[in-house]
Amino acid sequence: MNFAEYFCELSVLEQLRFGSSMLGKTKEEIKEIHNNMETKRLILNSIQCKHCLDIITSHSVHDYVTCKCGKVSTDGGLEYQHISFTSKLDFKNLAVYSTDTFDKIRESFSWGSYGKSGKEEKHWIILKDMSDNHIKAILITQKQISDFIRNLFIKEQQYRKDNNITIKE
Ligand SMILES: [Zn+2]
Repeated sequence: MNFAEYFCELSVLEQLRFGSSMLGKTKEEIKEIHNNMETKRLILNSIQCKHCLDIITSHSVHDYVTCKCGKVSTDGGLEYQHISFTSKLDFKNLAVYSTDTFDKIRESFSWGSYGKSGKEEKHWIILKDMSDNHIKAILITQKQISDFIRNLFIKEQQYRKDNNITIKE
């Protein structure tokens, strides 16, 4: 999907939000944002070991995870997928990309959370399971998240609206 197609799929409100997020940015910066949106990006970096059947997920660049039996590993988080194996028959790749359907994306993308208090141990919540308020709070308070991630949350809000889905805390 190119940027024009992507933009047309957004609701008017999303288009307005997107437009206002471009205020003050240079032409080069805007071009970069558009390019990033059109690039195939990782949503889930997971593999399943065919020996021990363990499913492992790398959440960040230096999150090197190995299955229970030690035959396969994956690394790279959502930046790149680096799989270690002996034979390609050792694992099944469960990776999900931004080019997959949104139904699949919302069941795959996970957000690292320290709980409402911010003091819990870090745990991962799947986008489709996050409460409406949690998503709203992230969009308001987490200014550092990338436009790519921000747009996933905005798309999820729209998806819930279109499908009459409400997720309470
Ligand atoms: Zn294994």
